[in-house]
Amino acid sequence: MNPFHYHRPKTLAEAQMLFRDAESPRFIAGGMTVLPSMKARLLDAENLIDLSKIEALQGIEARSGRLRIGASTTHATIANSAVVRQMLPALATLAGGIADRHVRNRGTLGGSLANNDPAADYPAAALALDAQIVTSERTIAAADFFTGLFETALTEAEIITAVDFSLPDRAAYTKHRHPASGYAIVGVFAARFGQHWQLTLTGSSAYGAIRLMAFEKQLVKGATPDGLDGVDIDDLPILEDPSFPIAYRRHLIKLMAKQAVAMTIDDVSI
Ligand SMILES: Cc1cc2nc3c(=O)[nH]c(=O)nc-3n(C[C@H](O)[C@H](O)[C@H](O)COP(=O)(O)OP(=O)(O)OC[C@H]3O[C@@H](n4cnc5c(N)ncnc54)[C@H](O)[C@@H]3O)c2cc1C
Repeated sequence: MNPFHYHRPKTLAEAQMLFRDAESPRFIAGGMTVLPSMKARLLDAENLIDLSKIEALQGIEARSGRLRIGASTTHATIANSAVVRQMLPALATLAGGIADRHVRNRGTLGGSLANNDPAADYPAAALALDAQIVTSERTIAAADFFTGLFETALTEAEIITAVDFSLPDRAAYTKHRHPASGYAIVGVFAARFGQHWQLTLTGSSAYGAIRLMAFEKQLVKGATPDGLDGVDIDDLPILEDPSFPIAYRRHLIKLMAKQAVAMTIDDVSI
């Protein structure tokens, strides 16, 4: 790891000013991606600007029928929050299933969304729940925020301050974890709004998290979870990977989707 300067601003304005004035700057939140990447020399930053002490990036609050979570909130805090568990238990489950205790205690919601790893869990929830990504400059709909593998709509010096989730009638997240990292090989988030579902996939798509429209269409027509077996998903842009062949991933996608949908239907148990 190359040497770097470390800054710990207390306000958003200070963080942005530091970023604009510094040579080769990088924001850091939990550091769970930034630090291993720097150690492996995949990333070089001369100035790390730590966002974790900025008050405006903290907090969990229910407002106007939505749930707003500060960007620097850790996965462990989300998993254990009484408010999240009551209002959006599927998100608490998702956060509690990320990696291990150490990563959950450091890694943050904002860092995960900004990084947009194609196997990360939160992007699936953000898309399925029509999240609004609130930044230092504007508010971006999740559908416009994720622009490709490890790519987002964030511009230079733009900081995610909070994520605002809509609240469905029921939601569930099912994940087949990578045995070493815990990252999703296949993760499916299902959100039911009345008789309408939004289903998203993470871990297996060549474009990062995506909607599973073919399943959504069948569900609106009244399909049961088992009815998803017959849906053609050959068009999905699935990642090629010798460890997890496409046929295996397709099988898991249907399995995870059926389980997630069943968990959103009151009278279906799995
Ligand atoms: C061993 C291991 C296992 C993991 N397993 C999983 C898993 O199972 N599921 C999963 O979803 N994730 C997993 N992760 C990822 C981890 O949970 C973090 O979410 C991820 O590393 C990024 O969050 P962070 O807060 O650590 O961000 P950092 O590493 O600090 O930053 C990541 C990127 O986001 C930028 N950034 C950070 N905060 C902001 C902000 N507020 N606004 C704008 N840009 C920002 C940084 O500049 C950087 O580019 C794993 C990581 C490790 C090391």
